[in-house]
Amino acid sequence: MKIAIASDHGGVDLKSLLVKALSEKVSVVDYGPADKASCDYPDYAMKVAFDVASGAAEFGVLICRSGIGMSMVANRFQNVRAAICPTVDSAVTTRQHNGANVLCIGADVVSADYAVEIAKAFIATPVDESERHARRRWKLERAGRLSDCSGLMHDDPEVFAAIKAQTEQEDTEINLIASENTSSRACREAAGSVLMNKYAEGYPGKRWYSGCLPVDAAEELARKRACELFGAEHANVQPHCGSAANMAVYFATIKPGDTIMSLSLDQGGHLSHGSPVNFSGKIYNIVPYTVDRKTEVLDYDALERQAMEVKPKILLTGASAYPRTLDFRRIREICDKVGCLMMVDMAHIAGLVAGGAHPSPVPYADFVTTTTHKTLGGPRGGMVLCKEKYAKAVDSAVFPGMQGGPLENIIAAKAVCFREWMSPEKKGYAQQVVKNCQVLCKTVQDRGYRIVSGGTDNHLFLVDVKTTKGITGKEAAAALDAAGIVVNKNTIPYDTESPFKTSGIRVGTASVTTRGMKEAEMIKIGTWIADVLDNIADTSVQARVKAEAKALVAGFPVP
Ligand SMILES: *Cc1c(COP(=O)(O)O)cnc(C)c1O
Repeated sequence: MKIAIASDHGGVDLKSLLVKALSEKVSVVDYGPADKASCDYPDYAMKVAFDVASGAAEFGVLICRSGIGMSMVANRFQNVRAAICPTVDSAVTTRQHNGANVLCIGADVVSADYAVEIAKAFIATPVDESERHARRRWKLERAGRLSDCSGLMHDDPEVFAAIKAQTEQEDTEINLIASENTSSRACREAAGSVLMNKYAEGYPGKRWYSGCLPVDAAEELARKRACELFGAEHANVQPHCGSAANMAVYFATIKPGDTIMSLSLDQGGHLSHGSPVNFSGKIYNIVPYTVDRKTEVLDYDALERQAMEVKPKILLTGASAYPRTLDFRRIREICDKVGCLMMVDMAHIAGLVAGGAHPSPVPYADFVTTTTHKTLGGPRGGMVLCKEKYAKAVDSAVFPGMQGGPLENIIAAKAVCFREWMSPEKKGYAQQVVKNCQVLCKTVQDRGYRIVSGGTDNHLFLVDVKTTKGITGKEAAAALDAAGIVVNKNTIPYDTESPFKTSGIRVGTASVTTRGMKEAEMIKIGTWIADVLDNIADTSVQARVKAEAKALVAGFPVP
């Protein structure tokens, strides 16, 4: 066990005594000061708080005349719980109940001998793991979810109100938007960090600005971790979003007017795959392919026939609303036959790929693009993975081709996200997202709702509400929203409704799984969805579900 200790000039004598007494049993790191020359207590409190916050030390001990100033500094750090203890009893209680990990002692408050007793009791007392104390400690840490931006309460109350409203929305609603997730606190810390202050046009080691060593380190971590996580040869982590990642690949490989084959937007493709209102549709010749009318899944033989005829420069797969596994090996075969580039946009499924819950496109594709905020659950942003031979072309397409300075704070948050994915729990998360999705889907299906393609293999499914109930996706989404269940309207293959109304809704489980929900909760939510849609105009059903949904999510807090 390691204990970090420090004081100010008022606590030097007591500190020496405590170091001696505690060193008999544990290893003590003394951060000073060495003498009684006047000094500033925050400087010393921070050293101890750093060690405890980072986990370098299990406990901290801080001494000043009252213990108060020291505790104020230490308690500003996440995961530090500093307690001023004037008695042995208070030391025992704060360990048990609050899980205090920094002991603050007032040198003018207690005698030296008694201080040693207090410190020994503090260290020897285990945390009480019973449910009620665990719950309260957890609420204590969570108070930080709003205090993350508590400075804004004072500096900009209007913007703070928007953030507070989003926090409350997350706290009370069931989010089933398939393209969303809930980021970790660590990601948000990196995204909100001072790295946003730096201009860094170029790449690590080759920047156009001075002073880039810190951001170089962050971007290098992001690139290295991305390659490790996905088994890629090269990663460009600078694209501001998924659409920009796609643009980078087009710019790196083909010329205006060249042909891209991609899944049509109304069948689950994405704007940046060639929609006429998007740059991609304006610059390139887009030939859409479709899913099979009957099975509503890709027919690879038909895709091959079409590709052989069209001879595209790029065959692009990947989708925003495709509930089935993509066969990348088969797609590679087609690309080889055609002699075209294979590009996979895994924006939606990147987390499933990272967690082994969907086959990886990386071994097959020339280019893999993604967002980092969907199933991957990181900051809002994009990324390109490619073979080494395309590294230079992709890098110069991003900068100077289409972007200026990268968002190094967001890149740092991407690095944090990739590291999180290397833990075994996160792999389990990806499997759970799929399990949850299948259970939720089946619950709705068993209530008589037609599911596009008959089910799901991934994190999302599409409900055909038009065929089942004669209502539009727009009406369904609005009714569910009123019931505290957030989904989006979505076109289904061969939809007869306009994209503004649609015949379907898209339902995804990334966010609820991040909150810790499992199969039992999915059955409840699926039942509520069917209850609301069965009674589309009944506001009392919506009110009942809203209350039940709110009670459910209270037990599954957002990180
Ligand atoms: C979400 C998505 C993108 C990109 O989204 P941005 O909003 O630009 O980050 C790209 N491709 C697919 C398939 C997507 O689903």
